[in-house]
Amino acid sequence: MSFRPSREPQATGNWQPATQRPYPVLIPHVCSIVPPYILRAIAENGDGQDRARALAALSMSASPRRERQALVQLAGVLVLAPRPKRRTVFDAEQRRVLPGRHARGEGQRRTHDDAVNEAYDAAGKTYDYFRRVHGRRSVDDRGLDIRSTVHFGEGFSNAHWDGRQLIYGDGDGKYFHRFTSSLDVVAHELAHGVTQYTAALGFSGQCGALAEHFSDVFGILVKQYWLGQTAAQSDWLIGASLLTKRVHGAAIRSMSAPGTAYDDPILGCDPQPAHLRDYVRTREDDRGVHINSGIPNRAFSRAATLLGGKAWETVGPIWYRALHELGPRARFQHCADATWRAAGELFGTGSAPQDAVRAAWKDVGIDVSAAVLDDGPRLPVRRRVRDVFDPPVAAAEVPFLT
Ligand SMILES: [Zn+2]
Repeated sequence: MSFRPSREPQATGNWQPATQRPYPVLIPHVCSIVPPYILRAIAENGDGQDRARALAALSMSASPRRERQALVQLAGVLVLAPRPKRRTVFDAEQRRVLPGRHARGEGQRRTHDDAVNEAYDAAGKTYDYFRRVHGRRSVDDRGLDIRSTVHFGEGFSNAHWDGRQLIYGDGDGKYFHRFTSSLDVVAHELAHGVTQYTAALGFSGQCGALAEHFSDVFGILVKQYWLGQTAAQSDWLIGASLLTKRVHGAAIRSMSAPGTAYDDPILGCDPQPAHLRDYVRTREDDRGVHINSGIPNRAFSRAATLLGGKAWETVGPIWYRALHELGPRARFQHCADATWRAAGELFGTGSAPQDAVRAAWKDVGIDVSAAVLDDGPRLPVRRRVRDVFDPPVAAAEVPFLT
């Protein structure tokens, strides 16, 4: 299958991702909720139908990096006027062409299709969380229309952010339920868009693992916010409602206890490390983006638990602020430093949140840099981090504009 942009971009003006004209789809690993190693395990261990479906999902997961990189770069250079909340849900009707048939627009009545209503409602809850807690207007902070396509493919077991919209499969019903049924999965995918427009983190290795990490962070925060749960009450699980009873496992990932989410004869064993000493070096999974995200995930849940109370009032704002300090090639160390600085800026130098953040990173084997500790939060940290790791994008470097 070949991949092509859905339309020619405009050289100037308010560019928006095209959705009116159908376009064929290839899906990047890094923005999928189900990582390739789980699909590969199902292909190896499952029956004939399992194998066919898993291989089909894997074959769609080639990485159209140029396409997504172009969208990331466009996000940084184009300015759109702020707009109110706007959601549109499409129905692919079990085909693999996007966006599909228009099913529900903003303010329109519920339909008889659960997947359509779930996608609409979960996008709204995620939008409202970011607006109320972080003051952010949609994915791009300028009111970008949140577009979702449900019923993508036949028995398709994944959910994705493809750089412009959300895509949901119905699940195979055997190992995975419908992907719109999980609020934290929807929030995880939308958070990929937030990261794309904020830090433009890369797609592999540590920066890719950080992208997965931030998506899990906002996925769990949205879940906790709407359930009214404190850090102590949360299960810290991503995709807890996704797995069927047939699977020996609680979820796809555990943020508080990485490596313990599932252990199943078909899906395999959760490979996530919880400490830097166990960092997994692999070529698979875009160099372990869904695997090594366990390390910062554990630091985040640890900091939240140390502080207690509602995580969206403590560590949530810290991580959101820190995301603005990171760039495409950020590593775990930069995230530790940025979150420590952000804690100082938001809550004060030597405050309990700042101490908790430092202790949490230490628990996973990462010390906040001595130079950062010495400098304190008063220095122009934004320049120091971004100048090194986020060189400005010249218009000539953006493929769609040249
Ligand atoms: Zn993801």
